[in-house]
Amino acid sequence: MKTSDFRPFIIPIFLPNLGCPHRCVFCNQAVVTGAKQNIPSPEKLQFQINKFLDYKGKRRNRVQISFYGGNFLGLKKNYIKSLLYEATKFVNEGKVESIRFSTRPDTIDNDRLDILKDFPVKTIELGVQSMDNHVLTMAKRGHTSSDTEKAVNLLKKRNYEIGLQMMIGLPGDNEIKALATGRRIADLSPDFVRIYPAIVFEKTILASWYKKGSYTPLSLETCVSLVKKLYLYFRKNSIQVIRMGLQASEHLEKNSTILAGPHHPAFGHLVYSEIFLDMAASILESKRRESKKRESKKDSCDKVVIKVHPQSISRMRGLKNKNIEILKTRFHIKSLKIISDFSIKKDEIQLHF
Ligand code: SF4
Repeated sequence: MKTSDFRPFIIPIFLPNLGCPHRCVFCNQAVVTGAKQNIPSPEKLQFQINKFLDYKGKRRNRVQISFYGGNFLGLKKNYIKSLLYEATKFVNEGKVESIRFSTRPDTIDNDRLDILKDFPVKTIELGVQSMDNHVLTMAKRGHTSSDTEKAVNLLKKRNYEIGLQMMIGLPGDNEIKALATGRRIADLSPDFVRIYPAIVFEKTILASWYKKGSYTPLSLETCVSLVKKLYLYFRKNSIQVIRMGLQASEHLEKNSTILAGPHHPAFGHLVYSEIFLDMAASILESKRRESKKRESKKDSCDKVVIKVHPQSISRMRGLKNKNIEILKTRFHIKSLKIISDFSIKKDEIQLHF
């Protein structure tokens, strides 16, 4: 795993759908973020950044101002420069370490990247969504997988930290294509990835397809299981997954903006819980096989203790203790305890019988 922390304290500046050449079928950033669709004035920007800096206190060292929710390099050059100029003032004052933004792969070219030269931009995230050209066409992305490859190569030449965002469950997508996208993203060796499920938001093209019955989103269960496979693949390839599922926000939970789809406020937790459940189940399964080999008549364990790192207790338990119930039922366990142990790695477990 690369050692840098790609999860700094982020000061988010939302630019909903600004700079987008058109609307992708799944997207309505104003609905997701609740933010207004205009470029913030310098005064507004200063106010917003200062508000977050007050909130931050002394909690984290690495602070980044982040322009999200639109297509940053698709903005007019003078807007790009003025936003970066305002953000740079905070970097010069030593209050912020650097700037990051998200943009479309097809906005990355030498001309646009030259604009950034004079500003302390460190991290660039690309909305890749899929590496399957058919899925990209169906989602009306307006770019291809080779645009993503070219963009990553250009960013690498200029030594930016690179984050790639993928989305699963889009029209035309399936498990094979999503896993292939995961592999091609890993081949590009980004510093980190985010995995989002396709959600049907109000006032999107996807919403109209969903209402007509021509699009069916993934179920939460299928989606969690697929994201788990992707997460494990990225982990094996030493690529940090910094987010799985949409960022839970009051706005998102309060408003009925989601028509359908595998949204859960604790989506990432569901994925981690399933990974821990699989680990425990596989150890218990081998124990059961061993007992059968020894022709032991006993097909149950009276007592099982699972030791995990303290920070992994809730992942091992699962949401509302679901994992404990599943394991007890599946393996006929009478008493199952989960205890914390600092000596165990965060992504490992130990079983005692
Ligand atoms: S997904 Fe990105 S590029 Fe597409 S409309 Fe939304 S913000 Fe714009």
